[in-house]
Amino acid sequence: MVLKTPRVALVTGGMGGLGEAICIKLAALGYKVVTTHSPGNTKAADWLDAMNKQGYGFRAYPCDVADFDSAAACAQKVAAEVGPIDVLVNNAGITRDMTFKKMDKVNWDAVMKTNLDSCFNMTKQVCDGMTDRGWGRVINISSVNGQKGAFGQTNYSAAKAGMHGFTKALALEVARKGVTVNTISPGYIGTKMVMAIPKDVLDSKIIPQIPMGRLGKPEEVAGLVAYLASDEAAFLTGANIAINGGQHMQ
Ligand code: NDP
Repeated sequence: MVLKTPRVALVTGGMGGLGEAICIKLAALGYKVVTTHSPGNTKAADWLDAMNKQGYGFRAYPCDVADFDSAAACAQKVAAEVGPIDVLVNNAGITRDMTFKKMDKVNWDAVMKTNLDSCFNMTKQVCDGMTDRGWGRVINISSVNGQKGAFGQTNYSAAKAGMHGFTKALALEVARKGVTVNTISPGYIGTKMVMAIPKDVLDSKIIPQIPMGRLGKPEEVAGLVAYLASDEAAFLTGANIAINGGQHMQ
């Protein structure tokens, strides 16, 4: 799967637990990897420095994926300074968990804008270029909780389910133009966020829900992203691929 001609991959939220693994995997396969971070992220320069000392050659740009103009400015810079974007991984996301009784408009909007509006904001910047060039990949990182719902996550479950509706509709529109659009729905993955859950809660409540008896590894999700980004995956579009250790089967 190693590329003969480098392609440009833009991974939103590439400094997070899953995003970093996706960036590393794509770089290892020969992609020119560009990531984004929130405009206020004060650790971004240190992350980039540490990664590039390991030889990855990443580029990073500030971008609020929840804001259309910020997404447009970021994509224009990437296109001008790195090249046209061939692969877009809509990975940036947040949770603001609370029961529906306590859910307020602020926390509803934040989750919808960051997880779902972001797919429009980012994909809108790159989709016409992909169809014009006759090749492109859009990969949306959703969640098992968008497939099955989750207590305390009406906002997140709705946004993540909405991402797959977006995937299916756009996949239809670009299917004849060499562009595929797919959703990946991970279950519990052992990122820092999940590992911060107290061990007794992980052991008593979360792991028992997973038939494989363990958390997923970020590298396992990254491997799936790499496959969807590849030429070999050209016939695969509009899919929602679950990667959850058997926790939820559709
Ligand atoms: P992290 O919290 O580690 O990373 C999330 C990333 O999103 C960060 O890099 C963050 O950047 C970025 N981000 C958040 N808000 C914005 C914004 N407004 N604009 C730009 N970037 C933003 O999460 P994970 O790596 O664990 O999750 C990645 C994706 O995978 C998410 O969409 C999540 O919902 C999904 N997922 C994760 C699972 C897991 O078990 N970890 C399971 C299922 C799905 P910054 O720090 O610069 O703000």
